[in-house]
Amino acid sequence: MHLSKRLDKIPPYLFVEINRKIAEQRAKGLDVISFAIGDPDLPTPAHIIDSLCKAAYDPANHRYPETYGLPELCKAIADWYDKRFGVSLEWKPTSEVLPLIGSKEGIGHMSFCMLDLGDVALVPDPGYPVYSVSTLLAGGEIYYMPLLERNGFLPDLDAIPEIILKKSKVLWICYPNNPTGAVAGLDFFEKVVWFAKKHDIAVCHDAPYTEVAFEGYRPHSFLEINGAKDVGIEFHSLSKTYNMTGWRIGMAVGNSKMIDALFRFKSNIDSGIPQAIQLAAVEALTGNQEDIAARNGKYQKRRDRLVSALEDIGLKVTRPKAGFYIWAKVPEGYSSVKYVAELLEKASVAVTPGTGYGKSGEGYVRLSITQPDERFDEAIKRLLALKSQ
Ligand SMILES: *Cc1c(COP(=O)(O)O)cnc(C)c1O
Repeated sequence: MHLSKRLDKIPPYLFVEINRKIAEQRAKGLDVISFAIGDPDLPTPAHIIDSLCKAAYDPANHRYPETYGLPELCKAIADWYDKRFGVSLEWKPTSEVLPLIGSKEGIGHMSFCMLDLGDVALVPDPGYPVYSVSTLLAGGEIYYMPLLERNGFLPDLDAIPEIILKKSKVLWICYPNNPTGAVAGLDFFEKVVWFAKKHDIAVCHDAPYTEVAFEGYRPHSFLEINGAKDVGIEFHSLSKTYNMTGWRIGMAVGNSKMIDALFRFKSNIDSGIPQAIQLAAVEALTGNQEDIAARNGKYQKRRDRLVSALEDIGLKVTRPKAGFYIWAKVPEGYSSVKYVAELLEKASVAVTPGTGYGKSGEGYVRLSITQPDERFDEAIKRLLALKSQ
């Protein structure tokens, strides 16, 4: 049997590998606690589940959905953007709003809409792996923009060589950032819009963490900038906002040409999001939002405890203002991979090596604060016990 050469270009998905290692340890009888994957441990709020259950019984929701999404969902998304960010969007199907089967799906497919063979995508390093892998699958080339601590983990757009800019078709950014936990101000987004216009490069802002933030900090949408809609789109997701990773629903919003392109691509390979889930998403976006603040309060406490435990055992950490990741600098003399192996071996605590997100992640590890409280407490105890070893 012949498999496509395209597949040879892509490494195994980072978390598939990590989960395999954890499963190996567990098979040996070890009780591994994983800080590796960012997947909310808290349940989806009950009012959202109730609306799904109700919708599931309605035969109208048992048939093929439309790829462009239910009009009431598109409108709920537009209203939410208006209320939350003051961004107004045309919600008529396939204009400026497109629901997705999780934002990962849209991100993966977007590269096929923007890149021809040999075109360049500007990709953050470290970054969510889907930007680079989808670029490769689409036949594009990657130019990595290092995210450095001294630049607040923002890419230095001025450092990109002119010869690369000429071939670049798309710029990927992500704030609040996974994996570094960094946030971006409106000044950065303004610069991005200016840069995109100057070099005719489309912007894809991946923003699933705008509603996971601490101490009253309110992350921005890239679309708040005048002219942003001329140059790009934003991906958002219900996964992290409403603890709905298992349900698979997200959205792309912004530039109508890009939205329509993504719709044209998708409508040929998927048949939309199960309607009952779309209706649950309408309830999530339009219903009571109090669970978000309560959830963020819980995350904030965990963040503070994990940061101080890590500092206690010799890692250097900047306390993140948003997102649910801690990006920690490993002690002198360790590589990321070596430190990950040591934590797994000595404490049965799994974390991700910074290098899993790109070369510039060397020297860092990423920890997610999405473990249930008892497991979280146990993991902190194990980390602190390392001090006396
Ligand atoms: C979680 C995550 C996504 C994907 O979210 P889904 O909507 O569940 O597919 C996209 N980008 C980043 C940076 C993420 O952390």
